[in-house]
Amino acid sequence: MQNLDALITLLNSPQKIVITTHIKPDADALGSSLGLAGYLQLKGHEVKVIAPSDYPEFLDWMVGNADVIVYKDEIKEQIASIVDDATLIFCLDFSSLKRIEEVGVLIKKSEAKKVLIDHHLNPDIEVDFMLWDVKASATAELVYDLVNSMGDIDLLSPKLADCLYAGILTDTGGFKHSNTTAKVHRTVADLIDRGANVTLVNKIIYDNNSLNRLKLIGFALAERLVVMPEFNVAYFKLSKADLEQFDYQIGDSEGLVNYALSIRGIQMAAIMIEDKDKVKMSFRSFGDVSVNDIASENFDGGGHKNAAGGVSRLSLEDTVAKFREIVNNHKEKFNHKIIGNA
Ligand code: 5GP
Ligand code: MN
Repeated sequence: MQNLDALITLLNSPQKIVITTHIKPDADALGSSLGLAGYLQLKGHEVKVIAPSDYPEFLDWMVGNADVIVYKDEIKEQIASIVDDATLIFCLDFSSLKRIEEVGVLIKKSEAKKVLIDHHLNPDIEVDFMLWDVKASATAELVYDLVNSMGDIDLLSPKLADCLYAGILTDTGGFKHSNTTAKVHRTVADLIDRGANVTLVNKIIYDNNSLNRLKLIGFALAERLVVMPEFNVAYFKLSKADLEQFDYQIGDSEGLVNYALSIRGIQMAAIMIEDKDKVKMSFRSFGDVSVNDIASENFDGGGHKNAAGGVSRLSLEDTVAKFREIVNNHKEKFNHKIIGNA
C-alpha cells in the first residue's frame, strides 16, 4: 500500500469509520466490508458499513450483517450525516464513485481521509491511501493482506475468516478462475486454520437455491439461451415478464451467465436482464478476450478482464441487437484456440 505507515498512524487513535462497497453487493463486496469492519471494531474504532443498495438473502449470514445500513431514499439524511461525521472512509471492491450512485456523491463531498481497497481495472477515485492490485483475486484477499501488514492477523476470528473466505471463494469462481494463485490457496489455508467453515459457507452460497431460482435457471437454459456458434459467443436475455413468472428475487440470476460460458468452445458469454428503467448486463470470458473492454466501451461498465458488468438504457430487444452488432464487429477477438474449441 502507498503510505501504509501514515494509515497505521491514523488507525492508532480511534476513528469514526465508514466502509462502503459497490451497488448490489456480492459476497466479495460484503465479505470484505464486514471482515474489515469486524477487525477495525476490535481495534477500538467506531465503524458503520453502508451498502449503496440491497443484496441477496444468501449473504445475510455474515457477522455484522444486522448492522449494515442499506441506502434507501427514506433514510438519505441519516446516511448523509453518518458520512459527514466520518473521519475515515474505506471504499471496498469498486473503482469509481459513479458505481455507488447517491452514496458516491456524499463520499465525494466528505472531508474525511479516504482509503481505496480494490482489484478492479482502471481505478478512478481520489483517495489518500490506496491498496489496489488488479492481480488480487478478491478485495477480501487485500483486506487479509492489510490486516497482516498491520501485524494483527491473530485478531481474525472464525466469523471474520468466514467473511473473507466467502469473498475469495466467489471471486475465484470456486478457485478455478485465472486469478487463483498459489498465494490465494495459502491465504485460504490460513483462513481455514483460523476457523473459516468451508462446508458451511459453500453450502450457504452454492447449495441454497429456492425452487423458483432453480426453475428460472431451467427456463433460461431451455428458452432464453442463444448461441452464436460462428463467433464462439453465447448469451441469455431475460425480460421482466420472464422474471415475474418465477417470482424473481434479487440474486436469483447470480451465476447464470456461467452456464453460457460453460458451453464447449464458447469464449465470451453475456446475460441481459430487463429491469425497471434499464437492462443490467453481465459478461464473462475465457482467455484473452477482455470483457472489461466490451463493458466499458459500450455499456457504461467495467470490471475485470474475464468478468465484467454494465448497463444499457435501450430496450431489451435493442440491447440484444447492439450486443450482437458488437460481437459481429469484433469477431476476430473470439477466435482463439482453447481446449475443446474444435
Ligand atoms: P457481475 O457480472 O457478477 O455482476 O460482475 C462481474 C464483475 O464486474 C464484478 O467485479 C463487478 O464488480 C463488475 N461490475 C458489474 N457490474 C458493473 C457495472 O455496472 N459497472 C462496473 N464498473 N463494474 C461492474
Ligand atoms: Mn471483488
